[in-house]
Parts: sequence; structure tokens; C-alpha cells
Amino acid sequence: MILRAGILYDGTLESPKRNVDVVIEHGRIAAVRAAEGDSDLAAACVTPGLVNAHVHLEASGEPDLFTMVQTTTPNERLLKAVANARKSLRAGVTTVRDLGSSNAIAQSLRDAIDAGTIPGPRMRAAGNVLCMTGGHGWPIGREIVSPWDARNAVREQLKAGADCIKVIATGGVLTKGAVPGNEQLCPDELSFAIDEAHRHGLRTAAHAIGAAGIKSALRANVDSIEHGMLIDEEGVALLKERGAYLVPTLAAAACILEHLEDGTQPGYVVEKARKIGEVMEENLRRAVAAGVRIAGGSDAGTPYNYHERYAYEVELMHRVLGMTPQQALHAATAVAAELVGIHRGRVAPGEPADVLLLERDAGADVRALRDPVMVLKGGEVIA
Ligand SMILES: [Zn+2]
Repeated sequence: MILRAGILYDGTLESPKRNVDVVIEHGRIAAVRAAEGDSDLAAACVTPGLVNAHVHLEASGEPDLFTMVQTTTPNERLLKAVANARKSLRAGVTTVRDLGSSNAIAQSLRDAIDAGTIPGPRMRAAGNVLCMTGGHGWPIGREIVSPWDARNAVREQLKAGADCIKVIATGGVLTKGAVPGNEQLCPDELSFAIDEAHRHGLRTAAHAIGAAGIKSALRANVDSIEHGMLIDEEGVALLKERGAYLVPTLAAAACILEHLEDGTQPGYVVEKARKIGEVMEENLRRAVAAGVRIAGGSDAGTPYNYHERYAYEVELMHRVLGMTPQQALHAATAVAAELVGIHRGRVAPGEPADVLLLERDAGADVRALRDPVMVLKGGEVIA
């Protein structure tokens, strides 16, 4: 198949290429070359498929996430996950990392997608989050009682088919009683869990909002900081020094803040979100300015934050963090892909043919990503 691109963003920060053909063979990109002769498909703009490094597929943007988890059955949530996988893919999200699910829902979904029985993005899945007893995320968590228990909890996730691990380093917005600025798992628990995951070749992600927890997770060798809204200068320096990724999940905060006055979200959520909203932009912009590796991830599934709206995260990285549209696209493709670890998230020879066909130049206006004309996953047209 020959796909002709008016302008091609290949996922890197190099200048986009104009009038090129992307040659696709057996689901992979065989060549990228100057346009010549006939083509099978054509688009004004072509980009890699989007990679969302932070999602929860069993949730669909319900206003009170953990109450939803506690008042639905695993079967009901599995069906939500199936629907959300399909919506993600149609919207151009061809790879995701599910950072926390109950009942091994994400692992089952990943396996069904890999087997080709249901449509969805390529997936990595963390399974249960590792949290302190009663801590942030406990309704989808494995509650840790000691460092050695943290090791065992990693082994349990591995046994249940997880291919990455999520630890909860600080409180969070959506859990009653969990203070976002406070540390939750102890440094020893983080170290044991992260070391155990690495021993088995699994990458680790830390939910970390407060400055102290961010630094504890980084010192424990975590691969990515999720959220990071209250990061301080020492935390930014440590992120750079360790070469870890920051996944700012801007859409998660924005969607909660946009609906504060609706009366649909619990009071504690409203209160915590307001406080974080006042300082997060400045803190995250400081991290971007320092040259920290930013990977795209939206925390899709959280309140009003829909899986099919990942393009909004890319828009926010541009608008709020001051990244250029191409830098934001780079973060949501190649950088996020590097973190997820399935492929390189680029339109380059040897890569899976996961590409978006767009009507307009996404580098001129990042909103062009909102509704792709066509999505290819592994060279196949997504209906
Ligand atoms: Zn999350």
C-alpha cells in the first residue's frame, strides 16, 4: 500500500517532509520516499498513531470515578473497557498504557486485542495499583503493608499478566481523605516495589503529585512521574539527572476544573482540584523549560476525560506548557512510545504502520488531530 502525504510528521523533531510516499508492507512501514506515480491513499497531513501513556480503560469519564468502581460489577466495567478501547482507536489512539485497573480487566482486554478478537489500541497494562492501606486508588489497588509485601504485590501483578507496574507515591484528587501533597507509600516500599519490577524487566510509573513523593519515587529509580503538579526545583533537577519521564496528564486536571460548578463531583475533589489548579501550570512549565522528557498521557477515564478526546491533551501541552505543536505531537507519539516500550512511535522503516490521515497540517494547528480522516493500525484501516 502506498500512502501519499502532503506533509509528514514522522514523530521526531526533525523538519516535516513534504510530498512523500509511505510504503506499507505486511502491516509495517517499508519505506518513506519522495512521492512518485500512483498511490492508494492520500492525505494533506500524516502523523504516527497517537500514544496515550496514561489511561484507565474501565472508566469512561464518570464524575465520581471510585464510586463508579465500587457500585459496578467487574463484568460491567469490562464492557466499558471494550467500548473505550474501540473509541480510542477510532479517534487515532493506536497505543495505550493502562495504569491501573481492577480484576485484571486491562490485562484481559490487552490479550483479546492482541488476539484480534476485539478492536483496540496496542496495550500495556499495570493491573492493580500498589498503594498504602486506604491510600489513593485503593478501590483498584493492592494495599501494601511493608517493603517485602511491596515485592510480593509486584509478583502478584506479574502473575496476573501485568507488563508494567504503578506505585502510588502521594495522595490524589479522586480518593476521599488522600492529600495530594502528602507522601503515601514509604521510600522503602517504593524502592522494593520498583526494584522488583525492574528485576523482571517491567517499567514502573509513580502516581506523584506532591514534591516530596515525586523525589522519593525518583530516588527509588522510577521510570516515570505521573501528574507531577506540585513538583519543586529540586524535583525538576532530579528528574533530569535520572532521565525519568514526566507525564503531566493536563487533561485530567482541566476536565475536573472545567466542571467544578456542575455539582456532580464530590466536594473533596472540588476543593483539592482548586488548590492544585492554582499552581500547576507554573510548576509544570518550569519542568518543560528545564528540558525534562515530557511524555503524552491524559489519564483518560477520569472525570469528563474521555478516551476519544486524547487530542485535547496534545492541545493542552501546546497551549498550557508552551510546547510547539510539533513538540507536543512528538511527546504524544515517539516519546510516549519510548516510555510504553512496544514500538518507537515513528513513521519510519520497520515500525508498525500505525498512522493518522489528517485533513489539515497538525504542525500549523494541533487541533487537526481532533478528528482524523482515517486511522491505520498495523496497516489496516480502522472502521
Ligand atoms: Zn491515572
